[in-house]
Amino acid sequence: MTAPASMFIDGRWVPSSSGNTRDIHCPADGSFVATVSEGTSADAEAAIAAARRAFDDGPWRAVPTSQRGDLLLAVAREIRARKAEFARAETLDTGKRLVESEIDMEDIANCFDYFGKLAGQDAGRIVDAGDPNVVSRIVYEPIGVCGLIGPWNYPLLQVAWKVAPALAAGNTFVLKPSELSPHTAMLLMDVLHSLDLPAGVGNLVLGAGAEVGAPLSGHPDVDLVSFTGGLETGKVIAASAAGTVKKVALELGGKNPNIIFADADFDAALDNALNGAFVHSGQVCSAGARLIVEESIRDRFVDELVRRAKKIRLGGPFDTDAETGPLISAAHRDKVHKYVQDGIAEGAVLRCGGAFGAGDLESGYYYEPTVLDNARSGMSIVVEEAFGPVVTVESFTTEDEAVAIGNDTRYGLAGGVWTQDAGKGQRVAGRLRHGTIWINDFHPYLPQAEWGGFGLSGVGRELGPTGLAEYQEAKHIYQNLTPAVTGWFPEH
Ligand code: NAP
Repeated sequence: MTAPASMFIDGRWVPSSSGNTRDIHCPADGSFVATVSEGTSADAEAAIAAARRAFDDGPWRAVPTSQRGDLLLAVAREIRARKAEFARAETLDTGKRLVESEIDMEDIANCFDYFGKLAGQDAGRIVDAGDPNVVSRIVYEPIGVCGLIGPWNYPLLQVAWKVAPALAAGNTFVLKPSELSPHTAMLLMDVLHSLDLPAGVGNLVLGAGAEVGAPLSGHPDVDLVSFTGGLETGKVIAASAAGTVKKVALELGGKNPNIIFADADFDAALDNALNGAFVHSGQVCSAGARLIVEESIRDRFVDELVRRAKKIRLGGPFDTDAETGPLISAAHRDKVHKYVQDGIAEGAVLRCGGAFGAGDLESGYYYEPTVLDNARSGMSIVVEEAFGPVVTVESFTTEDEAVAIGNDTRYGLAGGVWTQDAGKGQRVAGRLRHGTIWINDFHPYLPQAEWGGFGLSGVGRELGPTGLAEYQEAKHIYQNLTPAVTGWFPEH
């Protein structure tokens, strides 16, 4: 069999230089999806070289920003036009319900729309130098070659947050999606190619992180590495990038508090606690995995949560009755199960879940929605990101205590506050050390609003104007209109 040409380097679809391939299987039932290239570090280096040439010698960075913006708007239109194809590909790779992938594709198109419109808006600024004979201005230029590395939970969404601003700013890039979920990245490259993106501006490599991902952080010809994934990989990437002092953006994990005050709208808080913890089977960086409930409503709230969690229907991507799907792999499911077992061993009380999906679900990597009550600070299940359908319950009696528990994490990605007291909601939001705080909601994000983490949740921001600035260098151009001798070093 000829090796599939599923990597896109220097304007062409190419196979791995080693001829190696990887079979992709759907996590919902283990069924075969497709065979793709398994790239090598030499392939990554070829992609970096192509991106370097395209940046240094190609036309792309001189293309007017409005034209780059138009291209992004066209990408958004194409993704919408091919939504069914994109959503199906995402669903087969991840096992996620088709309806969720369709929502993701709309969000991705919105992201390209946002950066497409933002692209031409900021032409820089004039600085008042305090001297009428000086013109001082700031211009924003592309950084250069960007290494973009993505995870498997929202494969195309997470890389759209990087590709769209990188292109808007005039950079070239090498993209490496998770080895488990390559197909929508391939479709995106197909769209960019069909829209005549110049050769070398966008490149795609596939394969294992340690092989094809590592050069993107260590190579001297890469100017920026933007990574979304787990904490431990993030540390490896930051250390590797330090050798060449490149710009680093890290979107890492979270252990996100969802604080429920007794005066909250009970039904809305309960519904969103379920959504926060169990949507996409908890494989969401901002999952509300730590429920922190005011003591006076705790028993009632947790009893209802457990009753509702037990009813969540697990099922495959095309099962229209299913409410959530499988975990990404058997290895990941085993990891989640181990966290649950450790939590129980450390004193948490298993109220529901804690088991693999049974019966028809046994061919996939399903895990039952799990509630662990009586959780306490310091337990591994409270400290570590399980990244599965597991929610722990802690309780508080005062506002100060709620804030202290909510901040008792090394991470700082997102959090929720539920109260009908608007002042209390704002006060608590102001004191929580997390990058996004929802008051009386959970999970929504906006392309025009910055996303990112405090603490170990990462470095830098995606989305919003800052998400574009991450891909730009600010340059100060200072012009003296009346050049004159300074006399600082007089002629002797
Ligand atoms: P991961 O294991 O850290 O992998 C992320 C990406 O890094 C994959 O493409 C992986 O390649 C690659 N990689 C691994 N080792 C590498 C290396 N040495 N050099 C360069 N790249 C390397 O994370 P994941 O399991 O895919 O994703 C789940 C994590 O992502 C969770 O912790 C979640 O919280 C986080 N996340 C954060 C956000 C956010 O916005 N903050 C959003 C989504 C997800 P492989 O193909 O070999 O795996």
